[in-house]
Amino acid sequence: MPSIRRKPTRAVRIGTIQVGGGAPIAVQSMAATKTQDIEATTRQVTLIHAAGADLIRIACDSKKDVEALAEVRARVMESIHPNLSVDLQENYRLAEIVAPHVDKIRYNPGHLWHHEREKSIRDKVAYIAEVAEQHDVALRVGVNCGSVDPVMSERFGDDDVGAMVESALEHTRMLDDLGFTRYVVSLKDSDWRKVVEGNRRFASIRPEVPLHLGVTEAGMPPDGIIKTRIAFEQLISEGIGDTLRVSLTLPFDDKGQEVTTGREIIDDIYAGRFRSVPANFGEGLNIISCPSCSRVENNAFVELAQDVKAMAQYAKEYQITIAVMGCRVNGPGETDDADIGLWCGPLGVNLKHGEEVVGHYPYDTVLNETRALLDRVIAEKGFAPASA
Ligand code: SF4
Repeated sequence: MPSIRRKPTRAVRIGTIQVGGGAPIAVQSMAATKTQDIEATTRQVTLIHAAGADLIRIACDSKKDVEALAEVRARVMESIHPNLSVDLQENYRLAEIVAPHVDKIRYNPGHLWHHEREKSIRDKVAYIAEVAEQHDVALRVGVNCGSVDPVMSERFGDDDVGAMVESALEHTRMLDDLGFTRYVVSLKDSDWRKVVEGNRRFASIRPEVPLHLGVTEAGMPPDGIIKTRIAFEQLISEGIGDTLRVSLTLPFDDKGQEVTTGREIIDDIYAGRFRSVPANFGEGLNIISCPSCSRVENNAFVELAQDVKAMAQYAKEYQITIAVMGCRVNGPGETDDADIGLWCGPLGVNLKHGEEVVGHYPYDTVLNETRALLDRVIAEKGFAPASA
């Protein structure tokens, strides 16, 4: 059995749990239902809590979402007392109305520049930290390689991992200068290699900051689990990581699997049960898809991701990446680096070839269009034509 020496990080209290400071690795998940569907979201939080989640995240993009969250919180507190966190995207000003209802707020440094552009990022961070302080909540600085602050992207050019790490470091410095240290950091990407590299680099510079691990848009089981497992095996066995989330594209009723899978991976690593991964894992067709959340534009998303995966199997030998994303918040940006990107709108799906928009298609025809585009990409890359 390997002896894993966790890096000594500082303790951060999040509701009833402690992250870092030697506490067991906490496992998180996120509600995928529409936040304003109070019945469904209450059921989803209850289901994820029953699966053993230490912390459950809910997306909030509007005042109506916050009102719904407050109602969900009131309902679940009658019986199960889960720790709740919220995911702020562009509308960082929601922090003050959402903070009374949660134990942690996650903000994405790459999304802070969208609103109130005349205001400095430092002032926005100061505002979020002040709100967190007032309402006794922790923060997560959640950096995503695919939506990094444009200033950092420009500065680091092709070194997107460098941009991600520097963005996280910059925000930790701002929070430290403000005297706010009750935070954790995450550095995520859909490519497990970048997750490993980014977290290693960050931990070597700020070893005391607790890290939340995750491979974002890992996709559907089993591939999504394998990608995540590889990243976690590398990092946790080096003592890096204080909390984690396994992001999987799953139907609502199966969302508890994110938690059980996370626990299974941790248990396996501590027991020395490392999965041997063939040297060529990661070669060939790579399908990434988001885990979906309240922002998903159409509930057909999970089925669409599954259908794209099944349709594209004929091209499984080819080094091609297809990204399937659930909404306009992360869809346009997170599909830019894929050969083929699909991101969902309420009534149709946007299809992309790299950064170029190919068209917007109804849900019932987009699969045929994707198939045609896949054939085109195969030809452009000079691969031999594949047959279904
Ligand atoms: S892409 Fe959109 S729907 Fe999917 S997890 Fe991200 S925010 Fe949620």
